[in-house]
Amino acid sequence: MNTISEDKPTYKQRIVWSPLIVLLLVHIIGIYGWFCQLRSFHHKTYIWTYVLYALSDLGIALGAHRLWTHRSFKAHSSVKIVFMLMQTIAMQRSVFFWSRDHRMHHKYSETDADPHNSKRGFLFAHIGWLVYHKHPELIEKSKQIDLTDLTSDPVVMFQRKHIIVLSVLIAIIIPVVVPMVLWDESFINAFIANTFRYLFALHTTFLVNSVAHMHGLRPYDEIIEPRESNAAIYLTFGEGYHNFHHTFPYDSNTAEYDWRYNFNITSLILAILEKMNLVYDLKLAPKSYVHKKKSMCQTNGSVLILNATTLMSGSPQYQ
Ligand SMILES: [Zn+2]
Ligand SMILES: [Zn+2]
Repeated sequence: MNTISEDKPTYKQRIVWSPLIVLLLVHIIGIYGWFCQLRSFHHKTYIWTYVLYALSDLGIALGAHRLWTHRSFKAHSSVKIVFMLMQTIAMQRSVFFWSRDHRMHHKYSETDADPHNSKRGFLFAHIGWLVYHKHPELIEKSKQIDLTDLTSDPVVMFQRKHIIVLSVLIAIIIPVVVPMVLWDESFINAFIANTFRYLFALHTTFLVNSVAHMHGLRPYDEIIEPRESNAAIYLTFGEGYHNFHHTFPYDSNTAEYDWRYNFNITSLILAILEKMNLVYDLKLAPKSYVHKKKSMCQTNGSVLILNATTLMSGSPQYQ
């Protein structure tokens, strides 16, 4: 009888050329064009570019990540629609596929079934994973992951069905037309600014997969690779407390402390929406577990494995 390892297909790392060519073109237009046109942008175009970057990164953090991947809170339908539209601005595929990949990342971190496995190097974890054929382990195990909550969510499925039309309209046409109509920006400048904005938001999101899996402290669990990364924290509005997040993935703050004590704009928005009764059932890791896990790291110099049943009791389905 064959062993499991003998059954594993051999994997050769092969490039998929179409996304590579598209990414190269977008980088040339976005970065080269941005610096060529830097002095000719209307000042409102800079503000508009920043607003779109913030909206898109927050759409990822609030919607695709904390709401749909981890189910760390519940939201009113109107909020879900707004989060979905914000996430669409980011052009990082639909919420459905974003959440599927992120669940795979948490469940199989640092293995071949992790879409951006950091063991394959910084460049692969950051952006290379978009241009290589998927590992067979990832393809196989993706089929087994539970996505029934996503397939039964009409907002998620509407976006998945219409993602191309929505992306062209919300992430390209509106961002380019608004500066042209409202403050007479040229088409070239508006297009380049939007391309630069897309790239900036893309790379800041990807910092969490690369930098925050390689550089930084591990105060909650020293065995795992994810780390607390200042770069990721500030550039993603609070998503870089990554050692905490992988240790307590169901926590809606994705950090030990909320927005009052840490830079965490995403949590501040959630707190405001909670006051308005637009989001509810925000989950938090019990402080006693957090302190216990943290003190074990600090006092022993290595992590003691806590009783898994105790740690996970009351945690939600998605890790
Ligand atoms: Zn996560
Ligand atoms: Zn991670």
